[in-house]
Amino acid sequence: MFSKINDAYESVKNGLEAQIALATAEDKEKLADSKLALADLKIYIADLKEENQNLTDMLKLRDQVVYDDEGRAWVGGDPHCGGCFGSKGHKIRLKYHTGDYYICPVCGSSYGNVNNGRKPAPQDA
Ligand SMILES: [Zn+2]
Repeated sequence: MFSKINDAYESVKNGLEAQIALATAEDKEKLADSKLALADLKIYIADLKEENQNLTDMLKLRDQVVYDDEGRAWVGGDPHCGGCFGSKGHKIRLKYHTGDYYICPVCGSSYGNVNNGRKPAPQDA
């Protein structure tokens, strides 16, 4: 897809350059503005592509997350802060304290109870 966009960009750019060579002074200015607008569009498309990739990565990660009863977000057998992940999409590994008690090193949220035994990851995590 992106190579097609690059091909289209080069084609339009080459067409504009050919027109600039033949144009009047007033038209040259308009065509030069068009060329700048085209370059801006190319940058805009690249930004959209990057944003799309980030969102795709985030969706893949969401599919891998399993929440336990305490609200911990388990990914690949490791507990992460359900609050940080759910609200901001940040994957913050919880710091183990004792018993079944964990603390988020970023937001300070605590999960579980010091008096309970350490629970394993949910089966799908
Ligand atoms: Zn957190």
